[in-house]
Amino acid sequence: MLSHSLPARAVTLLRDADVEYALGRLAQPILNAAGLPSGSVKVVVIRDSSLNAFVIDHQHIFIHSGLLLKMQTADELQAVLAHEAAHMANGHIAQRYANARFSNTISGLGVALAAAAAASGADPRAAGALSLGVGSSASRVFMSHTRAEESSADNSAIRYMLSAGADPQAMVDLLNIFRGQELLNQSRQDPYARTHPLTRDRLRAVQAQVTAAQAKPGKTDEADYWFARAQGKLSAFLRAPSWTLRRADASPTKDIALLRQAVAYHRQPDTAKALATMDKLLAMRPDDPYLHDLHGQILLESRRAEAAVAAYGRAAALAPRNALILGGQGRALLAAGQPKRALQVLEQARARDFSDARVLRDLATAYAKTGNTGMASLVTAERYALTGRLKDSQIHAKRAADLLPRGSAPWLRSQDVLSAAEAHASKRK
Ligand SMILES: [Zn+2]
Repeated sequence: MLSHSLPARAVTLLRDADVEYALGRLAQPILNAAGLPSGSVKVVVIRDSSLNAFVIDHQHIFIHSGLLLKMQTADELQAVLAHEAAHMANGHIAQRYANARFSNTISGLGVALAAAAAASGADPRAAGALSLGVGSSASRVFMSHTRAEESSADNSAIRYMLSAGADPQAMVDLLNIFRGQELLNQSRQDPYARTHPLTRDRLRAVQAQVTAAQAKPGKTDEADYWFARAQGKLSAFLRAPSWTLRRADASPTKDIALLRQAVAYHRQPDTAKALATMDKLLAMRPDDPYLHDLHGQILLESRRAEAAVAAYGRAAALAPRNALILGGQGRALLAAGQPKRALQVLEQARARDFSDARVLRDLATAYAKTGNTGMASLVTAERYALTGRLKDSQIHAKRAADLLPRGSAPWLRSQDVLSAAEAHASKRK
């Protein structure tokens, strides 16, 4: 699990291959029911203890770690995902932000993340949102849904839950968590109450629909497993190790208990115990790429780069298309003094997820170490653009444009960054 501060430290994404895979497993039946193309929507965790979940484009459902840890059951989490999926499927996302081209460029993603920061309750000015062209009033307008949209999203969400075999009563439980918040002063509300206005009418309508629904108990142990694993790993990284070690044995399965313990020992840090626990865990699930990924992280952070290369290599062999695992493998290769091989792997990671600032940082190092300063400057420029530091991005993009062959694909990328930086500069005048 790695923290990425984006942009300008206002919003921190918690990127973890295991947690994202688990959330994907929970989201899949919901997204299918919503008719959203399979594999097109990613659930991403924001490090924030307040309660919120929101969508800003058709590719991501953002959920605060606080809300994820607050959920009691897989069904409650699926209720959150179903409601957000319904906002997507029912066309509630402002067209400006839904433009696919827009959200698939570095500068476009910067705007999306600045908007995410604004939705998280961060000061949009601190988030660089204003400088990227998202005014605070504009972001508030586009982030919060109307009451009509809320009702329509609830209505669809309950249908998705029924078709996914989740208990729709969880939607009522979810709304009850937020009940009464609209009476609170805005500063004391969870941001969810602002982005998803809740009224007593809305709660009543949901209750009526759930009561009328013939809920078939099609729920699977599988959903419970992935929910417990995502929550267990997230809490092991976010809470004190002592908190985790007191509770790990209460996990629903032995492997989740070991996973939580391994992370807690690693964070103490007690590397010997962490690695011994990992060995037991890997013996139980030898073909689980996400456990090899964690093994690699523990080894790398314990300065055992060679062993980390092997662990990440195993993870990558089991999940060859996972950008986060490839990123870890590349990082381990760099640490082990293999920049050439690292470069290949990190380029694969970047091709699958251009928005990972950590990969861009490592990639720039790999290019610099292999003597390609033009590419090192380009990737650095892209990383700054992504994190909202457009002035810095401009300096590096200019350097890259001077060094790269004019008209080549990388040179064109440097021009993209330059025009984003110029657009930003002219907006500020
Ligand atoms: Zn909503």
